[in-house]
Amino acid sequence: MKTDHSRALFARASQLLPGGVNSPVRAFKSVGGEPFFAQRAEGAYLFDVDGNRYIDYVGSWGPMIAGHAHPQVLEAVARTMRDGLSFGVPNALEVTMAEAITSIVPSCDMVRMVNSGTEATLSAIRVARGATGRNRIVKFEGCYHGHGDSFLVKAGSGALTLGLPNSPGVPAALADLTLTLPYNDFDAATKLFDEAGSDIAGLIIEPIVGNANCILPREGYLQHLRELCTRHGALLIFDEVMTGFRVALGGAQQRYGITPDLSTFGKIIGGGMPVGAYGGRRDLMSQVAPSGPIYQAGTLSGNPVAMAAGLATLELIRAPGFHDALERNTHALCDGLEAAAREAGVAFHTTRAPGMFGLYFREGPVETFAEAMASDTARFNRFFHAMRERGVYFAPSAFEAGFMSSAHGEAEIAATVAAACEAFVIAKG
Ligand code: PLP
Repeated sequence: MKTDHSRALFARASQLLPGGVNSPVRAFKSVGGEPFFAQRAEGAYLFDVDGNRYIDYVGSWGPMIAGHAHPQVLEAVARTMRDGLSFGVPNALEVTMAEAITSIVPSCDMVRMVNSGTEATLSAIRVARGATGRNRIVKFEGCYHGHGDSFLVKAGSGALTLGLPNSPGVPAALADLTLTLPYNDFDAATKLFDEAGSDIAGLIIEPIVGNANCILPREGYLQHLRELCTRHGALLIFDEVMTGFRVALGGAQQRYGITPDLSTFGKIIGGGMPVGAYGGRRDLMSQVAPSGPIYQAGTLSGNPVAMAAGLATLELIRAPGFHDALERNTHALCDGLEAAAREAGVAFHTTRAPGMFGLYFREGPVETFAEAMASDTARFNRFFHAMRERGVYFAPSAFEAGFMSSAHGEAEIAATVAAACEAFVIAKG
């Protein structure tokens, strides 16, 4: 496999960008080796600057649910940008986007557009604190909510991958206000709320944990958290930056039938452009400036080109049967991978939700963060590289979920499973 151009770019980048990248997990630190640089992407495929083609199961970390460079999304962007890139006054597409989100997600009476998932979660906890007059927030081990100070406490994603779940630079006084819980542990949550419930402004959770691989909620767990929050006057915040519009059109809250007080979104609603959003009950959201005193703002928030990309993507995923097909294909992929692993005699387990999955080099089930962490990362790393050499790109970390798009069909799944038959033998060591 040719890598000359990527290697040269990485050498240049490493002089100028910390670790050679603009977001840590892209540096391949946990799997070893060097990252490749993208040339272009189309449908289910990513092409690097050395001419290698990959079936892409990262999908820009989630936004590309309709496949890369979808003609309808590109057309919407091209049409919109001809009228100007940013106005600094309201534009009609922001209203259309707010209508789209609130009609798809009934728990959101109102929304505010921002520029990233991180901004969305930071703003949501500010609303929780401002509305309740309380300071403490609760998060879960291995959950990642962006790089805001309050969230870099036992964090997942790149922080976990690099072994930096708690970051220097976060004042202890602030980190002390973040309480953490083990995901899927009913009793630990009850106990924490019994002890500290009256101080808790909000509990934020990835309803399906996609930043510590992919861990699904135990039956009744999210309902249990809903009840605890209601009983103790804390706000339940679903971070649906990853799961929103993916695991069902209305996200994990629709899939599990839970009504959070606030929700955060990103990725898919930007269609590949930098976008986030937070929303929720009218009485909470109307406390945000300028209708209320809780301040939050953004020069580029509601950017017309980003709205156009997001709206075109939402239109695509609203097609009847979109998520059913995504679910079927996710099962086909995971079943195929499990069969290939069995054939190779490798302990391997998958977890799945529509359009996202977890790969574990261990026997299942995997329902807790500790179980996810006990996956054999050395095997995963060998598997990752063997797959990459065979033209399949999985997330470069044993602790990140994989993503599928509507562009991943039978041919891509069959090619992936065929490559995996060889890669599992290599992974076995
Ligand atoms: N919340 C979740 C669940 C995420 O997965 C991410 C990013 O992966 C974020 C928040 C942060 O979003 P962003 O990277 O757009 O700031």
